[in-house]
Amino acid sequence: MTRLGYIGLGIMGRGMASNLVQAGHDLTVWNRTATKAEGLDVSVVTSPRDVGPASDIVFVCVSDTPDVEEVVFGDFGVIHGMTEGDLLVDHSTISPHATRDFATRAGQLGIDWIDAPVSGGSEGAVNGTLAVMAGGSAESLERCRPYMESYSKSIVHVGDEPGAGQMVKAVNQILVVLNQLAASEALMLAEGAGLDLSRTLEAVEGGAAGSWMLSNRGPQMIERDWRPGFTIDLQQKDLRLVLEAADEIGVPLPGVALVYQLYRSLQNQGLGAEGNHALVKALENLAGFELSE
Ligand code: NAP
Repeated sequence: MTRLGYIGLGIMGRGMASNLVQAGHDLTVWNRTATKAEGLDVSVVTSPRDVGPASDIVFVCVSDTPDVEEVVFGDFGVIHGMTEGDLLVDHSTISPHATRDFATRAGQLGIDWIDAPVSGGSEGAVNGTLAVMAGGSAESLERCRPYMESYSKSIVHVGDEPGAGQMVKAVNQILVVLNQLAASEALMLAEGAGLDLSRTLEAVEGGAAGSWMLSNRGPQMIERDWRPGFTIDLQQKDLRLVLEAADEIGVPLPGVALVYQLYRSLQNQGLGAEGNHALVKALENLAGFELSE
């Protein structure tokens, strides 16, 4: 039986780990804040390194590029406990460039690397309906696919090169934030026009204007429920990665640049820990009025 490890039990990682356990897999986990493993039927170890000897495949889901580097290659990193032939699957959203470097460093130790960022929000992690965009060798992807299926409805191999998955995730994030901006502008006009916001949502979401963002975050925006499925701070991290990639390639992305500045204004107001749907607050600041239920 393949032994599985999981590092990073945040909003996304805990949902994925929980689905692995429910599918009957034994799991060894490490999270920086140990209390986040409470209530999961897993073996908890005290450093990322200790996940290695207990696992054939290690899944990682932490915040940003330096965090992946720390939990994998740092002094107590998992790589030091892994052996040749093991596989590391990174579900974090990080730099495609750095991913290529990480995969090379792991490869020198005989450990293969699949970059497998996900989309589908906190709901997707809990309900097992994530979309995975995977880069790396097809053979290694097939090795981890059965486990990823316990929390994903779609797993697409987007390229043999490590980093391909992260680049597709950058594409994904353009669609996410521009959908979020569209939902925000739409609700602002509805509010300004004195429309019933819930009725308006109901009327448009089934047509060509519908989107995951509108259906899942629209009601939260109307209720002014700013709890994060995905924080503004992490959303900004992703937009930084998108803008860096676009800059290197030379592709103008004016819409993303605009949303980046709007989120920055909210971070400056101290709202970085709120959900990314709080983008509408930047438009409220411009308009001088707020959405009301
Ligand atoms: P989160 O709830 O903030 O969790 C972040 C996780 O990373 C926590 O387990 C945290 O540990 C750990 N971590 C961060 N820095 C670390 C470090 N230096 N050393 C060790 N552990 C560290 O974030 P999330 O929403 O689950 O996001 C995780 C990743 O998934 C991010 O790359 C994000 O962009 C991506 N993602 C998120 C969503 C979403 O809707 N939330 C969707 C798709 C992709 P502690 O518990 O100790 O803080």
